[in-house]
Amino acid sequence: MSCPPAELRKKSAELQLKWNSYSASPGIESFVEFAVCLSSFSEFLNAKGLSGLHQLSHSLEQQALSLFEEADKKQIPQNVLDDLHSQVEGLSGRVNRFIDNNSRTVAHRRAHNETGITAELTPTHTIWLVGQLSVHWRTLMTQLEYFSIRAEVFPWESVPAEAEEPAILLLDMQGMAMDEACQHIQALRSRFSASKLIAQQMPADFNSLKLALAAGCDFCLVEATPQTAILAKIIELCSQEEDTPYRVLVVEDSLTASKSIQLTLKKNGIESFAVTRPNEVLTGLRTFQPDLILMDMYMPDCTGVEATRVIRQHAEFLSTPVIYLSGDGDVALQVDALRLGGEHFLTKPFNPVFLNAVVKSKIERYRALRRSMQHDSLTGLLNHGACKEKLAAAVSTAGTDAGRLAVAMIDIDHFKKINDEYGHPMGDQVIRSLAWLLKQRLRKTDLVGRYGGEEFLVILPDTDAEQAFEILDRIRRDFSQIKYPFKDSWFDVTFSAGVSVFPSTASAEMLIKDADEALYDAKHGGRNCVITCN
Ligand code: GH3
Ligand code: MG
Ligand code: MG
Ligand code: MG
Repeated sequence: MSCPPAELRKKSAELQLKWNSYSASPGIESFVEFAVCLSSFSEFLNAKGLSGLHQLSHSLEQQALSLFEEADKKQIPQNVLDDLHSQVEGLSGRVNRFIDNNSRTVAHRRAHNETGITAELTPTHTIWLVGQLSVHWRTLMTQLEYFSIRAEVFPWESVPAEAEEPAILLLDMQGMAMDEACQHIQALRSRFSASKLIAQQMPADFNSLKLALAAGCDFCLVEATPQTAILAKIIELCSQEEDTPYRVLVVEDSLTASKSIQLTLKKNGIESFAVTRPNEVLTGLRTFQPDLILMDMYMPDCTGVEATRVIRQHAEFLSTPVIYLSGDGDVALQVDALRLGGEHFLTKPFNPVFLNAVVKSKIERYRALRRSMQHDSLTGLLNHGACKEKLAAAVSTAGTDAGRLAVAMIDIDHFKKINDEYGHPMGDQVIRSLAWLLKQRLRKTDLVGRYGGEEFLVILPDTDAEQAFEILDRIRRDFSQIKYPFKDSWFDVTFSAGVSVFPSTASAEMLIKDADEALYDAKHGGRNCVITCN
């Protein structure tokens, strides 16, 4: 479980408390408090990848949101209240059971964890393949092992009940009628709170997919999905990183309004910074670096639209989303705002759940856009430009902290031959698999980019030459073990790497040049090796 049990327990208790307060004195205020807490809990569960628990709380949230009007008039029927009550209890029961089931295994894992660099480098995930063992699954299992993902096969009737939850359950739906498939999915969903459920070999029609998703599936892979795509989905899910908290700049002249907005954002885990005068907005943007601006429409001496026009004169803030906070009416100003790339209007007083949902969805899109500009589409790694920028930043940090830094340039050996003999798509698959391996074996603080076609740049902060060699040489050995299936046989691939270190090499450009020269030596030394420059 990637989520600390104490935090989960606290959030769950908080929800119970809010529900109890509402039950004790029903009214719109206490109902809104409950709904906000529920919405934030749902998002928390989702962010932590607790799929099953999230589906429960999300469904409860939907019901609560549809009851605002009745809550306002104190007219929620008793049977609906009873139903909400039992759902809140049910959710809390599931949370407790989940914590109990998993704390045992976490403690066990801690007790047996090795210390030092290697343990940190190799996280393992477990995936259960549910259905009959087939040849395809054997190849999939072998491929998964290269990426430290342990796969076990269970027939439908003997999926273990009392066990640590696997990261993923891959369900084979081949030849199964939809109602039977849905029963299976529902049964597993109610047992596994954190696992992702993927149904494979699904019929591709709209209805089947809708039913499977409604039954609790997280993803459906339709019939004839290639094995590489299944592998890619599993690895993607196993290597998901947690996002840093969202950041919002609030520009609002009324201190009361801005405090209340900041409180709502804080409850939803969003960091914020407020400025009360429009002329402070540029400084706010530079120092706080927000993902989004919440902009009051009416302020003394300046409208929100005028302030946004000033912001848009600065290239670095051209795409930062702006949401306007306005009273209703004033269509002319709203049209002006939209022309300036305003994303949305929220009319005061706003529903806090809605405010949170709008802010988060805009930030998600903004971050996705930024990500696609910085990352390479084949591998998901940093692209050439971005990894050079990150290297410059890492060198500057290491310089100010008097720290160390290692840089490695990796190049796949005889890659032209791979393309020639096995085809370009297979070549792409090899590139992708090295990207996955690097991502997986390196620490969270390390950076890895696709520097060129089959060349990768690795940045290892706080690492000396010896450690860098150890880390990379281990990845080199593991990579050379991967067997790529081709026709009735298989082939394997190797890479060479050159390493340079800061501060013996003092600038980003020189680090790349020295790593490149060491790589050249590695190639001339016979390939499939790591050379450290000195
Ligand atoms: P060496 O061991 O000396 O590195 O030999 P090499 O064959 O790997 O030589 P080189 O690094 O010069 O070859 C790179 C090849 O990678 C050439 C190019 O066709 C291929 N390539 C570059 N980008 C891609 C890509 O995105 N996909 C595929 N499949 N091939 C690519
Ligand atoms: Mg105002
Ligand atoms: Mg090359
Ligand atoms: Mg090469």
